[in-house]
Amino acid sequence: MTGRARKSPGRVAPLADWLRPDLGELVAYHAPDPGDLIKLNAMENPYRWPDALVDIWLAELRTVEINRYPDPDAARLKQALRETYSIPSDMGILLGNGSDELIQLISMSLRSSACVLAPRPTFVMYRHCAVTAGLKYVSVPLQAADYAIRARATLDLLARNQPAAVFLAFPNNPTGNLFERAVIDRVIEENAGPVIIDEAYAPFAQASYLNRLGEFPNLLVMRTLSKLGLAGLRLGFLVGPEPWLREIDKLRLPYNVNVLTQVSAEFGLRHYHVLEEQTGCIRGERERLHAALQATDGVTAYRSAANFILFKVLSDADLIDRRLREGGVLVKNLHGSDPLLEGCLRVTVGRPEENAAFLSALRAAL
Ligand SMILES: *Cc1c(COP(=O)(O)O)cnc(C)c1O
Repeated sequence: MTGRARKSPGRVAPLADWLRPDLGELVAYHAPDPGDLIKLNAMENPYRWPDALVDIWLAELRTVEINRYPDPDAARLKQALRETYSIPSDMGILLGNGSDELIQLISMSLRSSACVLAPRPTFVMYRHCAVTAGLKYVSVPLQAADYAIRARATLDLLARNQPAAVFLAFPNNPTGNLFERAVIDRVIEENAGPVIIDEAYAPFAQASYLNRLGEFPNLLVMRTLSKLGLAGLRLGFLVGPEPWLREIDKLRLPYNVNVLTQVSAEFGLRHYHVLEEQTGCIRGERERLHAALQATDGVTAYRSAANFILFKVLSDADLIDRRLREGGVLVKNLHGSDPLLEGCLRVTVGRPEENAAFLSALRAAL
């Protein structure tokens, strides 16, 4: 249908007259099109399910009634999560369309005068969701040498800003390290509001605050199935004391987790050993990749408890990034995103042959 304009543009006020003024400074989230490149930029699990398993999964999907709304509480999926992750029965579970949505819901639940605190550099969504929810965002720089959390600086900022919420990625993205537990514990103890431990990379870290949940009334733990191997499903979950989750749940739109995700995630949890085998391979590859990067002249690789490795190049990082693409590999260029990430790129651990292709492209680029 090609319609003639019914209204002359001159009679409509400029967009800026209708829109939130802060939209002017925001840019939409951009994920690059990988084309034919080896995709090592987004922390995805590079392995698919074996064909036989895919067949069983598809047979299950046949029975799904997509003409009906999904279970709004996803009770069966929550029960499966409870069993898989040994979530205590006195703790609540809130599901999100990815943990990104949970970060948004948490941010929307806070008073408009509130402030959110997180280290920097860290996962960009904490800032994005705080700012779009109209909150103040305060960040405390990590230690330059090793990206460790700075205890004194963090506790000082905590006392000064009285943040309504603190986000700590454990392990941290994009640095890959696990913050010192003694410091995290102090933050949880000192902060009045909730402290959200974001364990997106738990499958690779073998460290968690899930078993600490009963100890603090303000501790919330966030997980996702994305990095485990189900990024396409979009399922995140927040675990914590019911009083917090009940309030945050009021802001959740009904049916935020669709029926295909509910059924498929349950299926994935029932075959958890397959995913664990894959993440085990990725952990092994991470160690090999780290050693190879460390042995490369002009490269400093940081230790990682996640499925990616942050590395710093002595030469021009933008140029190296461009040459890596020309060499067929897509990584994440972090140079310019934070003063502490000067010269830094982040590579996701892929399959052995992908990592080998990355290493040879990098050596050629250097
Ligand atoms: C990738 C990532 C997420 C987002 O996960 P989704 O569930 O895919 O939205 C959350 N936190 C951190 C630290 C991440 O790196």
